[in-house]
Amino acid sequence: MTRRRVAIAGSSGSIGRQTIEVALAEPDRYEVVALAVASSSSVVIAQARALRPALVVVTDPAARAEVAAALPGVEISANLADVVGPADVVINGVVGFAGLPVTMETLRAGKTLGLANKESLIAAGPIVRPLRHVPGAVLVPVDSEHCAIHQCLRSSRSAAEVGRLVLTASGGPFRGRSAADLATVRVGEALAHPTWSMGPKVTVDSSTLMNKGLEVIEAHELFGVDLESIEVVVHPQSVVHSMVEFTDGSTIAQLSMPDMRLPIGYALGWPDRISVPFGRIDWTTLGRLDFEAPDRTTFRCLDLAYAAGRTGGTAPATLSAANETAVEAFLAGRLEWGRIAGVVETAMSRFAPSTPVTLDDVLAADAEGRRLASEVIGR
Ligand code: MG
Repeated sequence: MTRRRVAIAGSSGSIGRQTIEVALAEPDRYEVVALAVASSSSVVIAQARALRPALVVVTDPAARAEVAAALPGVEISANLADVVGPADVVINGVVGFAGLPVTMETLRAGKTLGLANKESLIAAGPIVRPLRHVPGAVLVPVDSEHCAIHQCLRSSRSAAEVGRLVLTASGGPFRGRSAADLATVRVGEALAHPTWSMGPKVTVDSSTLMNKGLEVIEAHELFGVDLESIEVVVHPQSVVHSMVEFTDGSTIAQLSMPDMRLPIGYALGWPDRISVPFGRIDWTTLGRLDFEAPDRTTFRCLDLAYAAGRTGGTAPATLSAANETAVEAFLAGRLEWGRIAGVVETAMSRFAPSTPVTLDDVLAADAEGRRLASEVIGR
């Protein structure tokens, strides 16, 4: 049997490292043929020595020179989208808007895209949509909630049977706390996620519920369901990863212990399932599953995202960019946690949305979101 060739964009990050683990769990089925990082030279050098990929992409020039010197005989590239070339399936684990070229190139090349980079789909939905019709192109979500919905939808014969999507949210580290109480929280507290171990950007987004808001837009893009039919429920145990309610009142849910290797393996194996289990449930110790409504007063980012999703066009791109800028400022100690939602809200109020036609329109909307957010943070 020929092995499926895997490329990993963002191989030094949390998704990238776990993708390597999953591929190595079934070495007779998967072969890692390309790795891409921004600047993490030492990590990618070690990964390449172990995995022997044909191609390593490093976008930062200084880091690229280091990697080239350490890996004689390996093809080295500066262009992130090149990672797609040698692969059958590409896992896009790049952080933020920077992942867009990988999303576009994978679909354009008619390959399977395992998408963990939600920002590219949220920002460039109208540009990415037509590429999903390229013959051979398949988009399999690696975000755990969307992977769950993707699995639930396999039980349905028609989109007309879908009543609503219910995305679960852990609630993050600040669930149950008030806005006043949260005004002065530190970076370390926002990064202490109760159920998931993830990169810093998505962990901060999880603490503000912006992550869930972005996921609502992502679900709308992926599954073509109206925003009014996508709901969010807080489920602190992170065992039910999301649900689909059908028109007859039935709800189908996907359950597993929180472990990103499961959605990664789902994308690597698609349309088959991998044979190594991750996140198996021990029902004798699981205990209880709780659900509650999200606190939309304290965690205002959730409704800011719904509003941008309803506006559509370039609004999600600008929202996501303004949020990235605010989160970067928070992580750098330049912005209080309690101001993140306000920065995004003010940036959105000063922005005039339009309908993006080209990639340049999306890039402009992204740049505008960053500029407006920086302006608000600066004062
Ligand atoms: Mg998620």
